[in-house]
Amino acid sequence: SLSDRLGGVFDRLRGRGALTEADVRAAMREVRVALLEADVALPVARQFVDGVTEQAIGQNVLRSVTPGQQVVKIVNDALVAMLGADESELLLDVTPPAVVMMVGLQGSGKTTTTAKIAKRLTGRERKKVLMASLDVNRPNAQEQLATLGTQVEVATLPIVPGQQPVEIARRAMQAAKLQGYDVLMLDTAGRLHVDQALMDEMKAVADIARPQEILLVVDALTGQDAVNVAQNFSDQVPLTGVVLTRMDGDARGGAALSMRAVTGKPIKFAGTGEKLDALEAFHPERVAGRILGMGDVVSLVERAAESIQAEDAERMAMKMAKGQFDMNDLRAQLAQMARMGGLGALAGMMPGMKKAQAAMAATPGSDKVLVRMDAMIGSMTPKERTKPELINAKRKIRIAKGSGTTVQEVNKLLKMHQEMATAMKKIKKMGGLKGMMAMLG
Ligand code: GDP
Ligand code: MG
Repeated sequence: SLSDRLGGVFDRLRGRGALTEADVRAAMREVRVALLEADVALPVARQFVDGVTEQAIGQNVLRSVTPGQQVVKIVNDALVAMLGADESELLLDVTPPAVVMMVGLQGSGKTTTTAKIAKRLTGRERKKVLMASLDVNRPNAQEQLATLGTQVEVATLPIVPGQQPVEIARRAMQAAKLQGYDVLMLDTAGRLHVDQALMDEMKAVADIARPQEILLVVDALTGQDAVNVAQNFSDQVPLTGVVLTRMDGDARGGAALSMRAVTGKPIKFAGTGEKLDALEAFHPERVAGRILGMGDVVSLVERAAESIQAEDAERMAMKMAKGQFDMNDLRAQLAQMARMGGLGALAGMMPGMKKAQAAMAATPGSDKVLVRMDAMIGSMTPKERTKPELINAKRKIRIAKGSGTTVQEVNKLLKMHQEMATAMKKIKKMGGLKGMMAMLG
């Protein structure tokens, strides 16, 4: 797998601080191979790797994972972000009939997917759907759709032999309007390769039907050709989304990335079998995992990141126990708390400092509390920050005024500082945060 291969690249780097440009470039060569093996088209792989390389250089390497694992996580996150669909539902909110047009190469799964989507719309969304096949090239293509229609109990436009696609589209529009259908689905013909006659026919149909959705249906096994297919179709008609079929097979899913990169349109569905209910929402995380061929690297790195946060907390505890923890440190910690998920998160991590904190954390808008605490510390003199015990009643009034807070809030802040110091001393006695966690199991 990719992480095994990266292990080799990075073995010599273990324990180093940050990912250097050379490290990242070495890793990215392997990432590129993995992407190509997963059928990501070459120009897309190249572009993706360039983007992620910049992002990864200089990132701190977590102490408990290998740099290779960390690069995989960075690459995975970038893949998920890029694959992520903005909206996977069809946008059919128009005066009926809304038109959905399916385009793609022959054998990509257009006809099957037409029936799958129609089934979904009539069932889940209770829409009245009419399907029409405009495929006059492939023998029995129109009958194939009619048969599927019977299976999913969705109406199909009656077949008129000899009619051409544009005429069929017109007839379908009329029927859908007159008979009060919510959605009209147009299944079009495909060729084995992109050709202009097919494209012209498709454009003419799109001009007449003005579809709300034009879905490009692509076989997930499409390899290097994916870029050409996507580019050609998207140059000719305004695509609104992509359906990736045969995701039930052993496709690594690289076509998904190619489609996203070239069309910029969301992948709205994934076909996962020949059966007519084998249609799913697209899951970017699963596909990213397939592309990288990795086991559990991502969660491994996430767990490592968590334990590093615990180490940071422990370092803070040591400082407090030695009595070195002043308001400046508290201020820095508040900023970190905000990053780590607010007061509640930290209170949960450290038993003993619960009282004042939990009360504040339980209040809605506790993030605002962090901001107010920061303002209070900001209104202290440098001397008060290093020696909080100097803060008497008079100083409290001044600090409250200066920070736009109240004396009660200043008292709470001081109390919290005290409680934290006391709790930390206890934790130290128990053998530090690690010892405590071990005791808790
Ligand atoms: P079209 O030429 O684009 O209309 O493609 P068809 O809808 O006729 O599909 C071609 C073949 O692919 C048929 O045998 C389908 O059953 C099959 N097929 C379509 N979608 C899927 C899918 O998601 N998974 C699998 N395993 N087969 C599919
Ligand atoms: Mg077909």
